[in-house]
Amino acid sequence: AKELGKNNFQVYSSSLNAQTYKIFTLESSLRHAIELNQLELYYQPKVCPNTYEIVGAEALIRWNHPEWGIVSPDEFIPLAEETGLDIEIGNWVKRTTCIQNKQWQDANLPKIAVSINLSANRFLEQSLITNVVNVLEETKLESKYLEIEITETSLLENEKIVFSVLEGLKGLGVKVALDDFGTGYSSLSSLKRFKGLIEILKIDRTFINDLTPLDTADSNFIAKMIIQLSQQLRMAVVAEGVETTDQLEVLNNYNCDSIQGYLFSKPVPASDFEKLLRKGKLM
Ligand code: C2E
Ligand code: CA
Ligand code: CA
Ligand code: CA
Repeated sequence: AKELGKNNFQVYSSSLNAQTYKIFTLESSLRHAIELNQLELYYQPKVCPNTYEIVGAEALIRWNHPEWGIVSPDEFIPLAEETGLDIEIGNWVKRTTCIQNKQWQDANLPKIAVSINLSANRFLEQSLITNVVNVLEETKLESKYLEIEITETSLLENEKIVFSVLEGLKGLGVKVALDDFGTGYSSLSSLKRFKGLIEILKIDRTFINDLTPLDTADSNFIAKMIIQLSQQLRMAVVAEGVETTDQLEVLNNYNCDSIQGYLFSKPVPASDFEKLLRKGKLM
């Protein structure tokens, strides 16, 4: 409150409590984060468990705040969603990812799909399709190099809209991944209802954490089952949060398609990711 003028301070002390004030400050800073160039995308590789080649990446947002340092998306994305700021942020993420990926391709680096995360509200709007078409056209990125990660919440809303968005993206050739798979309430029925429209499953980190080198262990059963299930449904499967070589080995034995986690790399700034991509292979 020190830096604020007298009037603002009076408003604060008379009508807002400390928590509201904090959110208010956060919101007004976030409002300017885009124009002030404080948002940045980090990229985390998805790796083939056999060859250790980079086969894809996920774009993860960071907010570089001049005073607070790097703010994690878990802290500001919920606020962005409540205040509608996620519309602008979502557009920025989409466009920046496509521009960046095209730049890597133009620099003759291996071509990979880069996924973005979309909240339910940003996914479930008819404008998403035209929006994606426009961004792909503007950036000249082929649609197969953009993927969209959603969570199950996106699928629980108005069925008509869900189908029309999924079908629209499928028509464009933009793949949809179901994130945090296994943590929701109706994961299995979602798979059945949207068969063919959701082409990638991401096994939630909690199931990966539990993996042991012993194949017969109960804790391995779920991950193994999810991988088999996705193969049956002809979906590609990505394991999230892989941190140890034991986990990698087990997942490779189960024929998991790709691996994402600190074992290979944390999410890193674009310039660092470019170096990884230049190497092509990790480990
Ligand atoms: P998510 O989509 O499930 O992303 C995976 C999170 O797990 C990332 O956290 C990533 O850094 C972290 N992670 C990756 N590998 C490992 C590992 O081996 N061990 C551990 N412990 N963690 C690992 P991050 O970057 O903090 O993002 C958190 C969440 O914020 C994301 O979860 C996603 O839901 C959301 N998010 C991130 N970027 C965006 C965005 O651009 N838009 C929207 N709407 N949400 C975003
Ligand atoms: Ca994700
Ligand atoms: Ca996830
Ligand atoms: Ca998550």
